[in-house]
Amino acid sequence: MKKILIFLLLLSGLNFAVFADDIDTYKQYTIIKTTNNYVPLRDSASDNAKRFSHLEKGVKIFSDETKNNFYRVDLGLDKYYWINKKDVDVTSKVLKKEPAVIDEIKIFENPKYYIAKIKLTEIPPYNEIETSENSVDFIIYDAILDKEKLIQSIETNADFKISKDEFDNLKISYFSQKPLFGHSVEIDKNNLLLKVKKPFVYGENKPLENLTVVIDPGHGGDDPGAVRYNLKEKDINLDISKKIKSRLKKLGAKVYLTREKDEYKGLYERVDFAKDKNADIFISIHQNSYSDVKNKNKKEGTSVFYYNKESFKLADEIKNSVLRRTSLKDDGTNLASLAVVRATEPVSVLVECGYIANKKESEKLSDSKFQNKLAKAIVIGVKNYLRNNF
Ligand SMILES: [Zn+2]
Repeated sequence: MKKILIFLLLLSGLNFAVFADDIDTYKQYTIIKTTNNYVPLRDSASDNAKRFSHLEKGVKIFSDETKNNFYRVDLGLDKYYWINKKDVDVTSKVLKKEPAVIDEIKIFENPKYYIAKIKLTEIPPYNEIETSENSVDFIIYDAILDKEKLIQSIETNADFKISKDEFDNLKISYFSQKPLFGHSVEIDKNNLLLKVKKPFVYGENKPLENLTVVIDPGHGGDDPGAVRYNLKEKDINLDISKKIKSRLKKLGAKVYLTREKDEYKGLYERVDFAKDKNADIFISIHQNSYSDVKNKNKKEGTSVFYYNKESFKLADEIKNSVLRRTSLKDDGTNLASLAVVRATEPVSVLVECGYIANKKESEKLSDSKFQNKLAKAIVIGVKNYLRNNF
């Protein structure tokens, strides 16, 4: 309809193209900026809605409406997304979107990462989408690229491809011969750093000397986790975690526990700790429970949880190793949106070793010998994941 209107106006000898253009953009935008790191952009205006993307602090976003405690975000896609008001500041209002301008694309590497550095006039929203276990797309929204002015430099053989998505947004795709080993987006002044961790390499002295692992004993302090038969989940989690740590250290890995003693740690505190330590692998240790007390002995076995495609293989290798080396049954490898496994770096999994709520299993899980067997099995799972993929 708009095209026909412009065509008719042009035919009549009057150039009203500017007027025609305004029909589309006659709404007011609120410019908001993220004030926290790891802010979720969601599918609808609810804290439980599916996550579309996560944004670091300092991202400039155009919002055209509000609902409940959320700003609606128009990324120019075929649907809207939502961001919680608590995670942003309002900066100003405008009648038209002013997209950021991409000035430079530089692709290079350092000892640990392959990096696409995008220099912009401002930091717009972005997304990281794992397209397979081996590939990730970085998409940059609300940004324009002037091909004639753009500076491009490529200083690495890493397989980055620069293209556009179906909505004309800049898309930088990374393909790897080996499975992804972590990726992230970082903001550095006016630059977006799209980072892909290089694959794991075995050490020359000790096999895992190039590996950093964070083990996360679930719960602690005022939060005991599941409590049954005079056993507290938090204690069993810590005992098993310490045993995993000493085994991994013998293989040369750098290993940190999110808590070394009985103390409370928030979920995001644990995730931030792993990020601070530049962990390659994050393993959260838990014991399972259930609320259906009548059927208390019916549930049993080991289950593992992951969120990102790249973490599936680690989850599955750990579970399979535990099943082979202990008497525990298979309770599934599950995709779940849990805070401790959502990060794309490190490769992250959560292990429910067994059911503390199941009398028979609770006896095993609290036995030091069995815990040793379990720790050994989890470490072999990590080794198998590395051996089969890198
Ligand atoms: Zn737990």
